[in-house]
Amino acid sequence: MLERGQVANSWRHERWDSLRLLTPNWQSRLPGHHYEGPDPDGYMTMGEVVEFISRFALVSQAPVRTGVNVTALNASSDGYELTTSAGPLRCRTVVIASGACNAPSVPAVAAAVPAGIVQVTPLDYRNPSQLPEGGVLVVGASATGVQLADEIRRSGRAVTLSVGEHVRLPRTYRGRDVLWWMDASGVWDQRYTEIDDLTRARRLPSPQLVGTPERVTLDLNALTADGVELVGRLAAIRDGRALFSGGLVNMFALADLKMGRLLDTFDQWAREQGRDGEVAPPERFEPTRAPATSRWQIELGTGEFKTIVWATGFRPDYRWLELPVVDEKGCLRHDGGVVTDAPGVYALGLPVLRRRKSTFIHGIEDDARDVVQHLAERL
Ligand SMILES: Cc1cc2nc3c(=O)[nH]c(=O)nc-3n(C[C@H](O)[C@H](O)[C@H](O)COP(=O)(O)OP(=O)(O)OC[C@H]3O[C@@H](n4cnc5c(N)ncnc54)[C@H](O)[C@@H]3O)c2cc1C
Repeated sequence: MLERGQVANSWRHERWDSLRLLTPNWQSRLPGHHYEGPDPDGYMTMGEVVEFISRFALVSQAPVRTGVNVTALNASSDGYELTTSAGPLRCRTVVIASGACNAPSVPAVAAAVPAGIVQVTPLDYRNPSQLPEGGVLVVGASATGVQLADEIRRSGRAVTLSVGEHVRLPRTYRGRDVLWWMDASGVWDQRYTEIDDLTRARRLPSPQLVGTPERVTLDLNALTADGVELVGRLAAIRDGRALFSGGLVNMFALADLKMGRLLDTFDQWAREQGRDGEVAPPERFEPTRAPATSRWQIELGTGEFKTIVWATGFRPDYRWLELPVVDEKGCLRHDGGVVTDAPGVYALGLPVLRRRKSTFIHGIEDDARDVVQHLAERL
């Protein structure tokens, strides 16, 4: 196992200070290793995640070689050849587990942001004190965007949040964590072969969730109540002006509708499984409140905004893969972790790799078992 940094490197160096997992502690499971502390319904801080993963590396006796950066992977006559910072290596099979979130996914319009406005990505952001005083435009309203908009607003700055397609979820439903429902009702276990539009499922934005000791719901209603201004999806930046799409009302209605449908499936599951008695009665949530009017363009050069935070997602970095296995969008072409265009190459740790839960830490156990079985049969 080659790791360019330290064990749990992404959690040590690529996350903001206040981040906690949005998955509850009981869900932090690795093969044979799970949370055993006093707060199974809490959410780990980054320090706790680092400790959890480091401990797993220790007890599993994983043969990790830290500080070894892989700079190239090429095919050779009998397998693969790696170029690394510790010299060349040869192998018959390779598992690419280099992560799905190595780089920020920043739209091309960023190039048109006027000089003088600081641009920050979630990989550079640590806390509000690093931002200049003044207004902040946060682009993107998924888990990262809503969390950063909330934190920056609490620092006293004016925050405008540009909202595109998003997934709305309550933190708790019928008295249980919403992710308990996903787990219990089998949504997480849905296989990649059973998903209608797999490409779309793999690109779906993360849900608007935050892990806090108070288990708060951080949806757009919570943000507007805190004074965050909502605008539409950032469509372009032209002549120093940010232009936003209209249709906020429709986008909110769609997210509300999809959340309602998911809650319906939970209710149906509880009814059919006879579990209604274990949980509180069904509940429905206030629709997302649309602002009476929303700005569709903002002059960026007036000094109103000092910072833009690009909470527009993450992408993997495969520049070191010198094999024809990456598509035009920069994603690895694979069939449930089997990289078909390069026999003997496998992938793990990517969104909806083999199941819906593959996107999350607890998804690795089942995926690894399947992928390693294929690999072992091949060897
Ligand atoms: C902001 C954020 C919040 C998240 N919150 C949650 C959550 O609450 N719950 C949850 O379950 N999941 C969460 N996730 C998803 C979670 O990060 C992934 O499920 C998990 O990290 C996947 O683990 P991994 O080891 O595959 O990838 P990573 O954790 O990304 O690890 C990949 C490793 O590969 C190393 N590497 C990369 N390239 C090379 C190279 N060329 N040579 C050598 N080493 C290399 C990197 O240094 C890194 O250590 C979150 C992700 C992000 C970005």
